[in-house]
Amino acid sequence: MKNKTIFICFYLETYTYIALKGNHLLLYNTIDGKYIEDFIDQSCVKAFSYFINSKCYSQCLKRADVSKQLWKIIYKIRNKFMGDYYPVNSAHEILPFSFPFSMDFNLQKDNNPLRSTLQTETNLITYINTIHIYPLSSKNEKEYTSIYFYEYEDEILLKEATLNQIDSLVKMQSIIFQLPGIDSLISQFITFYGEQVIKNRIIINTNYRRIYKIKLLSEVGSWNPENLNIFIDLTSNFDKACFIQEVIKYAKKANFYFLLENGRQYKLAKSLICDYNIEKYQLTVYYNNMNLSFFEKYVYSDQKDILKYTISKQDIFANTILNKINFGQLFILPDNRVYSNINDRCLGFLGQKTIQELIYKEMTQRNNWLKTRNKKPCKNCIYQYLCPPPSIYESMIGKMNLCHIIEKTNNGKKTSMD
Ligand code: SF4
Repeated sequence: MKNKTIFICFYLETYTYIALKGNHLLLYNTIDGKYIEDFIDQSCVKAFSYFINSKCYSQCLKRADVSKQLWKIIYKIRNKFMGDYYPVNSAHEILPFSFPFSMDFNLQKDNNPLRSTLQTETNLITYINTIHIYPLSSKNEKEYTSIYFYEYEDEILLKEATLNQIDSLVKMQSIIFQLPGIDSLISQFITFYGEQVIKNRIIINTNYRRIYKIKLLSEVGSWNPENLNIFIDLTSNFDKACFIQEVIKYAKKANFYFLLENGRQYKLAKSLICDYNIEKYQLTVYYNNMNLSFFEKYVYSDQKDILKYTISKQDIFANTILNKINFGQLFILPDNRVYSNINDRCLGFLGQKTIQELIYKEMTQRNNWLKTRNKKPCKNCIYQYLCPPPSIYESMIGKMNLCHIIEKTNNGKKTSMD
């Protein structure tokens, strides 16, 4: 019988993501979404810490030092195609297997790499991907506490100076405009930029009660209904007659966003979706300080929700350095105030500052575009970078984790999160 070697080479595939918090381990296959989660012993902690800290996905282990649990995990890793081991006679036979920086999604980042490239970046404008134009003249608390629901005032036009300022941005193909649905504003844009630009690249967000005011929508073939987002606020006096008359004709193509705050409104939303065959919809729960249990039931995520869809290596890498929800978004008000997050302080005024300067300010002095889950409790959680980035909603209600995970983990006996 052949003698066993003294050493093994234990290695992981480059698409395997590791999260290790105390003795809580998660190994995640970024190709098919399979994972291994366990509370591990010291021998395992040592092996997986090595992978993370050395930035090297292969290591030499003495067979005698490999605990029973580590063997079990190695076999699970093999079965899920996330890595394997092979026998070696000495440490010299191990091929070091390191990551190029851009792929290193396990790297512990002390400084944000995007911040450090800013000094040499000459065209920050290329970071913008969406501009929200708000025809609002005043900031009203109710309007700004609901993320998806914009209230509008009619007949407010953007100043020509504002249009001139954003002129060069409009010409960039990558930018999407999100306009609240005021007809006069749309007409103004059509005059300024031409019908084709407006039809193809502007998304209209409109409250269902105001949809009849958008004349463009009634012109046959003039608008792609897929670029239409209809917001239905069920928290205050839902007007069913108006909904039936004005809105259901868009049920197959437009995107429907329902705002609700209790079980009764939830049932109403479900019945509207079902009765009128609405195909694309999203339910948003409004937190009103009194509906915590309803909010927890429908908004809080669980492990199942987080791991439901495969999360790619690129997504995990992006989650470690920036906020995919907020990044690249600017909000412009008619008085030229510019925001990178409408619930934050204004960045400055167009006209007094260039767009380039305002973006630089966001990326150096504010933390909307680069806000990651690097604060407690998320920084102690193994799902830290698998979870979607922190949303504006989380900051608004002052709770940085809308999930059941930490409470569940803390109720378990085996964890050592700190
Ligand atoms: S604690 Fe934070 S990172 Fe962990 S699951 Fe909850 S929200 Fe996501």
